[in-house]
This record gives sequence, C-alpha cells and structure tokens, in this order.
Amino acid sequence: MKPSAAVPADDWKALVRTQGGDPVSPAFSILDQRATLLDRSLFLGSAVRNKELSERFGMTGPALVDLAITHEMGHGICQEKNERRADDYGKELRDGKTPDCARALVGKQSSDTKSVATAPPDTLRLSL
Ligand SMILES: [Zn+2]
Repeated sequence: MKPSAAVPADDWKALVRTQGGDPVSPAFSILDQRATLLDRSLFLGSAVRNKELSERFGMTGPALVDLAITHEMGHGICQEKNERRADDYGKELRDGKTPDCARALVGKQSSDTKSVATAPPDTLRLSL
C-alpha cells in the first residue's frame, strides 16, 4: 500500500462524495490505486466534526484513528471490498493477529453471528 494521506477537513466531505463514499466516514480506500485516505479531523477535529464522528462510531481521537486505520488495512492487506469482512480483518489486526485473507475465498464463516450475505454490494470506492 502507498502511505496513507491525511486530507484537510475542509476538503474531506467533497472528496469523499466524488468517490461515492459516505462523507461522515473519516477514512476510505481506493483499492485499485492501493491508496488509503484519512480525514485530518481524526487528528485535529473541530467540535462539530468530533460530535458527528462520536455519534456515528461511538468514539473519537486515538481510538477512532486506530479503528479507521486497522479497518482500512483490512481492505488493503486482503484487497477486500466487503465492509463486513474488512471490519473482521481490522478487528484481528487490533488483536495483534494476522488477518486470514483466504477465509472469505474458502467460504468459511467468521465466528460471529453477523451474516456476510447482508452486507451491501461491493464497490471499488470504499468508505470506512
Ligand atoms: Zn471499509
């Protein structure tokens, strides 16, 4: 993966919209370009933006940075377009494990009860 880039907050939502992503999300990856972009608000958020992130993700600051980066690494390391599986891989990374990218290919279900089948359709442009 290319190094991640932090984008100024003023430009973030416009940028995410052009990529077809969710503007509230503070990170997204463009898999075909092997790039991950982060909203600079993750590091220097305004009160309004922090409130928005807190309401959506239940956290702000370093915890959300950790969540965002490991989730995006899940997309990047495994070239995974599915949000649910990227979440699973991110969780494994936060637990200090190496994500098992092959898991999805062999059709083995993760141990939690959430069904991958209910995840939204895959797209190349991803939001957190
Ligand atoms: Zn994602």
